[in-house]
Formats: sequence, structure tokens, C-alpha cells
Amino acid sequence: MSEQEKPVCPKCNVVDHVVLVNTIQKAGTAVGGVTGAVTGYVGAESGATVGGVIGSVIPVVGTGVGIIAGGVTGAVLGFFTGAAVGNGVGKHIDTYIIGEYRCNKCGNEFEV
Ligand SMILES: [Zn+2]
Repeated sequence: MSEQEKPVCPKCNVVDHVVLVNTIQKAGTAVGGVTGAVTGYVGAESGATVGGVIGSVIPVVGTGVGIIAGGVTGAVLGFFTGAAVGNGVGKHIDTYIIGEYRCNKCGNEFEV
């Protein structure tokens, strides 16, 4: 089920209620999402240009809408891609570098 073995709570001596404390994973998701959105927005410049050209069928207004749509699409795609990458990197750090776990039964926090 999980890709790694969870440790046993030193107090309860059970594994069922032990969860990884995923502080970095959460931060990584947020940071990755924002970074991805910015990168996606900038990277969507070419897409925005295409959108602008297509939108130019209706001059001025269409050009603006096309450029905005292209940039927003890039930012949204970048956000989800960046969030996924940040989530994965953060989880890796939480799991293999910090290795801090919490028992939801007794509230005990411990490192492995
Ligand atoms: Zn416990």
C-alpha cells in the first residue's frame, strides 16, 4: 500500500495511528504552485501570442483577450505542475531527511 514502512509509536507500540509529519510537503506544494504559476505564465508567452493572433480576427479586443487567455492558461497549468513537483519534493524531504512522525492516538511526536 505505502511505498515505505511506517515506524511503530514508541508509546502505544502500534503502527496504525502513526502518520508522517508533512510540514515540508505542504510548504513545497505552495511554493511549487506559485513558482509554477509564474513560470507557466512567462512560458505561455508564445501561447499567448498565438492566442493574440487568433483573437485578432476581432481587432484590439480580441487580441487582448487572446493574450490574457493564453497567459492565464499557462499560469494555471504551471500552478498544478509546480504544485505536484513541490509536493513530491517536499514529501521526499519529510520522509527521508526529516523523518518526523506523529501518533494520532496518543499525540506523541518522534523521529526515526
Ligand atoms: Zn502513540
